[in-house]
Amino acid sequence: MIQPRDDLALMEGYHSPQVDVPVRLNTNEAPEPPPPGFEDALVAALRSIAWHRYPDRSYRALREAIAAAHDVAPEQVFVANGSNEVLQTLCLTYGGPGRSVAVFEPTYALHSHIARITSTGVAVGERREDLSLDLDEVRRVLAEAEPAITFLCSPNNPTGMVEDEATVREVLDLVPGLLVVDEAYGQFAPWSALELVGDDVPLVVTRTYSKTWSMAAARLGYLVGPRELVAHLDQVVLPYHLDAVKQAAGRIALQFEDAMRARVATLVEERGRLVAALRELPVDVFPSGANFVLFRPRGRDGRAVWEHLLARGVLVRDCSSWPRLADCLRVTIGTRDEDDAFLAALEDALR
Ligand code: PMP
Repeated sequence: MIQPRDDLALMEGYHSPQVDVPVRLNTNEAPEPPPPGFEDALVAALRSIAWHRYPDRSYRALREAIAAAHDVAPEQVFVANGSNEVLQTLCLTYGGPGRSVAVFEPTYALHSHIARITSTGVAVGERREDLSLDLDEVRRVLAEAEPAITFLCSPNNPTGMVEDEATVREVLDLVPGLLVVDEAYGQFAPWSALELVGDDVPLVVTRTYSKTWSMAAARLGYLVGPRELVAHLDQVVLPYHLDAVKQAAGRIALQFEDAMRARVATLVEERGRLVAALRELPVDVFPSGANFVLFRPRGRDGRAVWEHLLARGVLVRDCSSWPRLADCLRVTIGTRDEDDAFLAALEDALR
């Protein structure tokens, strides 16, 4: 049997177990499906699809709708099958053999994974002990590696921490290539790097429909960046990569922006409640601007706590064996009932 390329043996896949339990708080999805009306509008749109034809290759209507939502030009928007594919297209376009990306760990595992898959080198910088970004370390890594792409993630997955405007501006001044700010959880944060994007700025901001828009099943994500960069990405991505259903779904979802904003506000409030409750327990809680919270049970084995929660029907993300995150667990903000079930199970586990 033919063997895959040699470097694949060195890579670990990305796994988040999909276990069938009553309370699933492990993958940072929205707790509820899209608002009523979304499905009806989508079904109506399906009737007008010309199934025997390829979809609009430049997905004009979707691009225009996203551009309008962010008050930018359609030519500044690139859309793909989940923000993971956006990140992959960036690496295919600006990475590759002889080039590298910079990441500051702990951060979203797919940044370095996608870089490696695309044969791009990875320069790893460390965050501080409290998991905040260390600008001296950023300076050191960028000077040493001269990466084509520097990744920031704000709010950062899995820590939940938000980079403030001054920090992003400073990193933007330092990068020798492109700065990618992954804002998969941007709507839950008090500030967005979207306001720094411009045609002469080496910055892109990535967003996803998977969280706020309750559309993880659709696989849809996008970036906003300079026109010239978007044109380069259009050259690299496969033709017709966005099917007609997805294009319609993405466009229609944006018609429900008010409902989505209301849901984000509810989740942010619920996050406050959950964090306050966690602070009453013997756990260390990391500050979060996202729809999840990272915490570390004090003096307990994280894996054992995770197993205890699972036995009670509550699935959270087990980060306890990840480098730099010993004993940490990450919980997605769910409905009030789901969060109460989590808190009760956690209290029980820590008793
Ligand atoms: N970026 C971050 C930081 C994420 O946490 C995720 C989802 N886990 C993604 C990107 C990918 O999102 P999607 O491909 O679903 O748009």
